[in-house]
Amino acid sequence: MLDSSAFTNFVYLDHGATTPMLPEAIEAMTAQMATVGNASSLHTSGRLGRRVVEESREAIARAMGARPSEVLFTSGGTESDNLAIKGTFWARKDADPRRVRILVSMVEHHAVLDCVEFLEAHEGAKITWLDVDQVGRVHPETVRAAIGTDPETVALVSVMWANNEVGTVQPIAEIAAVCREFAIPVHSDAVQAVGQVEVDFAGSGLDLLSISGHKIGGPQGVGALLARRDATLVPLTHGGGQERQVRSGSLDVPAIRGFAVAMRHATANRAVVTERLTGLRDKLIRGAQDAGFGVQVTGDWEPGDGIRRLPGNAHLLVPGCDGDSLLYLLDAAGVQCSTGSACQAGVPQPSHVLLAMGMSEHKARGALRLTLGHTSTAADVDAFLAALPAAVERAQRAQVATSPKQTSPKQTSPKQTSPKQTSPKQTSPKQTSPKQTI
Ligand code: PLP
Repeated sequence: MLDSSAFTNFVYLDHGATTPMLPEAIEAMTAQMATVGNASSLHTSGRLGRRVVEESREAIARAMGARPSEVLFTSGGTESDNLAIKGTFWARKDADPRRVRILVSMVEHHAVLDCVEFLEAHEGAKITWLDVDQVGRVHPETVRAAIGTDPETVALVSVMWANNEVGTVQPIAEIAAVCREFAIPVHSDAVQAVGQVEVDFAGSGLDLLSISGHKIGGPQGVGALLARRDATLVPLTHGGGQERQVRSGSLDVPAIRGFAVAMRHATANRAVVTERLTGLRDKLIRGAQDAGFGVQVTGDWEPGDGIRRLPGNAHLLVPGCDGDSLLYLLDAAGVQCSTGSACQAGVPQPSHVLLAMGMSEHKARGALRLTLGHTSTAADVDAFLAALPAAVERAQRAQVATSPKQTSPKQTSPKQTSPKQTSPKQTSPKQTSPKQTI
């Protein structure tokens, strides 16, 4: 059983990075680890392992509104994204060499961004970046316009279900409907969405959907790609032909069992948990705004709404602060969170998501992401709000002392940081983005 004392020495507000495993998932996984059997073996132990895999597949399919045969187990969200995008790109291009265009939103996770940029650099792909509005939302009409210029050259479309930094939920069913009109395969990275908003694969109209175990209370290192039966994928790994011949490799039976238990739990309790999280999120945002430092909330926030923004996501901008300094000061005060940005060659970089939303680099540097999950309590929010003023004061002092240039008009001029400069067609998000966003 989970030793809850492991989580009592600090306040954990980084559930978007990973959330504690559910006791039920640990129990199921541990029990499975005590057994032997490769799910591909024909003897009794192998068949028992296979049974666990197939029951887990059924449970995940049921929870996601998919058929069991549509669930392909992978090592997590990153692999699922790679398999969906590279696998579909190669299959579509093989069938018709004109299909080299990939339409992808500016605010994707690096598992998608780096994947399409790899295809551009090495495989002749052409990327059409899909713009977002000020809250980070892709409009279906943007997708239609991008397809419409040249529909027969499009290999696939990929738009995430919910953003990992600012929590904006995309109109996926409407975007998928546009793609279906042109018979173009459409993928969505739903790693952050599952367990927080309703995700129904069949109802979404998608061809491909990525999910991950460790964001929903399952283990790290396991996930799945949901792929319609008629989705054609070129495999990325070759070997034993497991998982519909597209994802070879012995299956991690204990992790798959833990994943399925977590999925059942997360979806069955979603309504209750997310209502609670929405309340905590709103309390956190209001408290931070009331702290008197001019803190702003980013993205689409409407108090009480857990549909257009992820219930557990609070993304704040603290003026005059470097987000990384704030993160370390809060950590020292026992509160763990993230910024959504990270260092490249030792230099903190503003988030590509915030830049795509039209924010200046200077403003984007004060970003702080606080994500709530199934273990979060009102006391966690109170502890954060209590630690915030001292951390902000120190971070602001440090900012003034170390980087007076950052406030000079030249460095923050709108021209240097305007949305136009990061607009899809001109600049890839990667050029301004960190590698470690989670
Ligand atoms: N996609 C999104 C939106 C994510 O937030 C993450 C992880 O943070 C991933 C993909 C990668 O998932 P995994 O850690 O399972 O590889």
